[in-house]
Amino acid sequence: MLKWLGGLFDSNEKELGRLRPRVERVHALEPEVEGLSDSGLRARTDEFKERLERGESLDDLLVEAFAVVREAARRNIGQRPFDAQVMGGIVLHQGKIAEMKTGEGKTLVATLPLYLNALTGRGCHLVTVNDYLAKRDPHWMGPIFHALGVSVASIQHETAFLYDPEYPSEDPRWDKLRPISRRQAYEADIAYGTNHEFGFDYLRDNMAVDLSQLVQRPLHYAIVDEVDNILIDEARTPLIISGQAQKAADRYYLFARLIPRLKAQQDYVIDEKMRTVNLTEEGTASVERMLEREGVLKSHNLFDPANVALTYFLESALKAHVLFKRDKDYVVKEGQVIIVDEFTGRLMFGRRYSEGLHQGIEAKERVKVQGESLTMATITLQNYFRIYGKLAGMTGTAMTEAEEFHKIYKLEVVAVPTHKPMIRTDNSDLVYKSEEAKFRAVVGEVERLHQEGSPALVGTSSIERNEELSELLKRRGIPHQILNAKQHEREADIISRAGEPGAVTVATNMAGRGVDIILGGNPEGQSEKEWQAKHDRVVELGGLHVLGTERHEARRIDNQLRGRSGRQGDPGGSRFFVSLEDDIMRRFGGDRVKSVMEWAGMSEDVPIESGLVGKVIENAQVKVEGFHFDIRKHLVDYDDVINRHREVIYGERSKILEGADLKANVLSMVGDEIRSLVAGHYSDDPAQDRDAEAFKEEVAKIFPLPPGFNEDDFADRTELETALIETAEALYDEKENEMGAENMRVLERLVMLRTIDDLWVEHLTQIENMRHGIGLQAVGQRDPLIAYKTQGHGMFQGLLDSIRYDVVHAIYRVGIAREPAPPPRAVAPPRKAAVAAVAGDKVGRNDPCPCGSGKKYKRCHGT
Ligand code: ADP
Repeated sequence: MLKWLGGLFDSNEKELGRLRPRVERVHALEPEVEGLSDSGLRARTDEFKERLERGESLDDLLVEAFAVVREAARRNIGQRPFDAQVMGGIVLHQGKIAEMKTGEGKTLVATLPLYLNALTGRGCHLVTVNDYLAKRDPHWMGPIFHALGVSVASIQHETAFLYDPEYPSEDPRWDKLRPISRRQAYEADIAYGTNHEFGFDYLRDNMAVDLSQLVQRPLHYAIVDEVDNILIDEARTPLIISGQAQKAADRYYLFARLIPRLKAQQDYVIDEKMRTVNLTEEGTASVERMLEREGVLKSHNLFDPANVALTYFLESALKAHVLFKRDKDYVVKEGQVIIVDEFTGRLMFGRRYSEGLHQGIEAKERVKVQGESLTMATITLQNYFRIYGKLAGMTGTAMTEAEEFHKIYKLEVVAVPTHKPMIRTDNSDLVYKSEEAKFRAVVGEVERLHQEGSPALVGTSSIERNEELSELLKRRGIPHQILNAKQHEREADIISRAGEPGAVTVATNMAGRGVDIILGGNPEGQSEKEWQAKHDRVVELGGLHVLGTERHEARRIDNQLRGRSGRQGDPGGSRFFVSLEDDIMRRFGGDRVKSVMEWAGMSEDVPIESGLVGKVIENAQVKVEGFHFDIRKHLVDYDDVINRHREVIYGERSKILEGADLKANVLSMVGDEIRSLVAGHYSDDPAQDRDAEAFKEEVAKIFPLPPGFNEDDFADRTELETALIETAEALYDEKENEMGAENMRVLERLVMLRTIDDLWVEHLTQIENMRHGIGLQAVGQRDPLIAYKTQGHGMFQGLLDSIRYDVVHAIYRVGIAREPAPPPRAVAPPRKAAVAAVAGDKVGRNDPCPCGSGKKYKRCHGT
């Protein structure tokens, strides 16, 4: 690992070496661009576009385009991008991650590659961590883009804006932001928005039934701000659009009642590392016994396909009881189960665990089980961002996760040097015996800093700790602000004042990201003289002091906290306070430190400060980071399977929406269906006796057979096939003549879309259930991933077959009514897929077919 990192630093130096000549060339163009009039500067945009059309590449234009943006920024917002920022801009253009420390001005950096890439006219996205920044940043940078004739939009949760200097807004803070439609926003050259908005728009677009409903254009280039947050911290919660489905709440309550009877170790084993729980053989037997007694087991073996529906509830109940702890992973408030974010400790109102887990917890806590949601569309953020033609990211902290970015996203990390040398002092950790002693020390230190007039920023790992600390400070009469990532806008305001003399700010790790702490406080709202005096005083006292109250599991999060201080060459200091009772110390390496402490014979309130302890903690963090990486990798591996399916299905959908001629497609499906019917009928299997009547009935489910049709009139199977296909085509043309070609095209499109969408949703659910089943059985040596891939592949083939079956069986039967349009599916006969599940119940070959046709199973769906 260390060797690998060492290599990384060498290659980083080399990379920077390659970037410098271009930075210098941008520099060299400055006098020339400075001499241009405003309209002369604006005219460069058209010139660049023309040159692109004539075959020059973006790389050819980069130096000049960056020089132009630099000048536009200087003129219009009074900030001239520093060389380090130009360097960061090149890295982003190259589709890499630029690691730039907090306060280096990443907002401005992004304007350089955004402008360059927008010249293609294909739209660029800047992905922010919250709605507030998605509005603030285009508003702030808007004048640069506007001066260069490039349009920029902000996409908000329910609205969208275009930056337009002519627009007289009522809200003075957000002047120049003109409300526009979502689609218009995506037509802008540049759009700012959160990952959720971009991702959900993508999913919704893929549910649209008409081109006019689409809002996005093909995803071209994205820069992800705070990229570690989005691709690493949030990587485990996929975006889901759900509908309501009714799954019996009493099943959840039933399992919530049964599961506590199981014994840990004996009946199930927990894999702490992967956060999974598996039944042992003994456990499986106990569950089977209990379910049998309850009379709900369909077949004796729990893992028979017939019991699929039960294993779903079993899985959710097991997880809910064994892995999820009240007041740690979730809280129960007014009859609701609310998720607690594991990184920030904030309550995630309205978010629900997926796959029945939330319901499982509701049942365990004996509150009302909320309606099960049905997954209509889902994508992980990882896979959403992989769709972009080019992806780039920026953040203050990426290096510790460089391996993951590289392995999973093929994103390289380049550490861009700071504009001014970093002079913050990072002190070594202080280790206390108990948590109580630790917090006493923190409060003492905060008091000292406050009295001396230094601003202090205290980081806590959760809301709970945040509030406890606040209580302690209150008791000591120390005025302070608390921040726990609930309201981004108010938070931005608090953070911007956190650098005032004597200010004390207590924040959870993620709070106020993307907003900068200026020494002396926010210059806005105070006179320049006033601000300068405060600023100088704070600088003299050594800048902002960051106090960490616990080491996070990931070094990256600790670095983020530290990085709040020492911006742009400011003085500053940081220190972490740790106790042997902290989570990370208890779980990893605490014993070693304890023995050192005992050996040194230290008392409660005297901490030790040693390099050894720092090493132990860092090693523990590296270990935990590795675990989390594995879990995420695991998820990505699983998600790859469904992702491939999604690519195919969404690809087909967009072809349909874009008006591909489907007639040939539909007719070839009809042909395939007929061929497969004929093949089944003339089966080589001697047990499969030919039944002319049954065969005719099958065909008649697709289209009415001509009167007098008799299969014996044909010499062989090929002739029969040809005749049927000809009939099918003739009937099709007849229908088309009747309806008019245009209507027929609409009908084809509707039937295809409807069928694909319905079956896709079903497929998503089935795949999910299958994965649960596999997870539960993963006790033996079988690699569950391989089993998942194989079964997933089979299910996808099944999906394609069902689509064919449904389309073919609907197309001859449906028409277009004026209004209300009949749903095409309603008249389609039951399809094989649905029946196949029932067939798992072992229908005898001579039993009546479960599809309700009244025929023997072997003559109907049992073929
Ligand atoms: P980051 O996102 O990298 O932490 P921001 O984009 O919030 O940083 O910028 C930090 C501060 O630096 C802002 O107040 C911004 O106005 C200022 N800043 C950035 N670049 C420049 C520049 N080239 N010249 C002057 N001020 C700048």
